[in-house]
Amino acid sequence: MKKFGFLLFLFVFMVAFPKGADASSYSAKIYLDGTELNLSSKVKVENIKGTVMVPIRVISENLGYSVGWKKSTQTVTVKGNGTTVEMVIGDKTAKVNGQRAEMTRAPILRGGTTIVPIRFVSEQMGLNVKWDNQKKAVYLTTPTTVNPNPGEGNDNLSTVDGISFSENRLTVAATGTVKPELMKLSSPHRIVVDIPNAKFSESFRKNNDLNASLNGELSVTGHPDVKKVRYSIFKNNPSTVRIVIDLSKAKNYTLHGPKNGTGSFSVELNTSTEPAPAPGAGGKKLVVIDAGHGGRDPGTIGATKKKEKDFTLALALKVEKLLKKEKNIDVVMTRSDDTFIELKDRAKLANDLKADAFVSIHANSGPSSASGTETYWQRESSEELAKVLHKHMVEAMGIRDRGVKYGNFHVIRETKMPAVLLEVGFMSNKSDESKLFNPTVQNKLAEAIVDGLKEYLKVK
Ligand SMILES: [Zn+2]
Repeated sequence: MKKFGFLLFLFVFMVAFPKGADASSYSAKIYLDGTELNLSSKVKVENIKGTVMVPIRVISENLGYSVGWKKSTQTVTVKGNGTTVEMVIGDKTAKVNGQRAEMTRAPILRGGTTIVPIRFVSEQMGLNVKWDNQKKAVYLTTPTTVNPNPGEGNDNLSTVDGISFSENRLTVAATGTVKPELMKLSSPHRIVVDIPNAKFSESFRKNNDLNASLNGELSVTGHPDVKKVRYSIFKNNPSTVRIVIDLSKAKNYTLHGPKNGTGSFSVELNTSTEPAPAPGAGGKKLVVIDAGHGGRDPGTIGATKKKEKDFTLALALKVEKLLKKEKNIDVVMTRSDDTFIELKDRAKLANDLKADAFVSIHANSGPSSASGTETYWQRESSEELAKVLHKHMVEAMGIRDRGVKYGNFHVIRETKMPAVLLEVGFMSNKSDESKLFNPTVQNKLAEAIVDGLKEYLKVK
């Protein structure tokens, strides 16, 4: 297969450097609203005949947009802020919300990485873009006023941004003033949660299967008494979001939050007659575990085509299981199954719950030789947590220690509590990948994360 490998190399080389090697690759800097984005060392910003091109990873991991890749059609899709940009490798014509738009340069594929023109993508996502040729820097700024629902006007409605059900708890991520009204109904048994003066956010509508009349549902598996969770716009004047928990037998519930009447809240189904304490109540520390990627965002694809989202979920669930045994720690998951959740909603959930620590689980990608464990922090207040968790993880994983690093990732930047992002190993390295998916190693890693959290939070 050597010959094919060479031809592929030649092809990629020719696509990447049309008409000779006039592409320059350098360590350009990218700033978002004045803060420099941390680009991992393998991310190269390139100026190809005046068009600044970046790996798609920058768009997803640094800018926080969701990115999809369809191999059969060589199409990369970027979604966010109500905009969908579709680009095809080697084609200068993109589609923005279905409309054709011209790029100065077509996306290219190199070494398994898609490289796209950053100005085009950023501008379509509503960012202002400036390129400083002398400093070799891209300046991206978010406009100060954003109307999330153009054409709908300012209706002052609060938004429901996310609905999840895990273990015994329904968690509703919301923005704005929220006054949930709960009812217990029988035949069939169900708990109804109404949120008056609210609607589904644009991102919720995009990321969940809502039909034309804005109805949708979550399937709940593995709960003895909960069959499913349905949601809809129950009425229009005032707009009211209704969430129904369908039960197989009558259950009591306790409503927690929203704090100060705004933002997210949760509904705990009581297992006993004792009201369940709110997460983090009674002096307990509250930890949010974030399994990276999910749903239509697979994350990076490994050396043997395994998906990062499957590793992150498997490890996160093991961490959750161990944390549930800790009597001084409560745990809330950003996702417990294979669903897509926006980065901003992950951060918001942790902020709304006023969590004590946030741990985002990821796996790395790079050249096939790259291997090792690294841990990222973004705000100074997170550095200590990063150091402690890293120490335990490196021991459990037993591969190269790549160190504790500053990284400008959305979820650890926008959270307010100590927050870290773990790159446990490299999916792109066969040996790392097989360790990441080895259940014994995962158990050790889960224990390491719990040990690290206990050490950091100083709980017994
Ligand atoms: Zn990741």
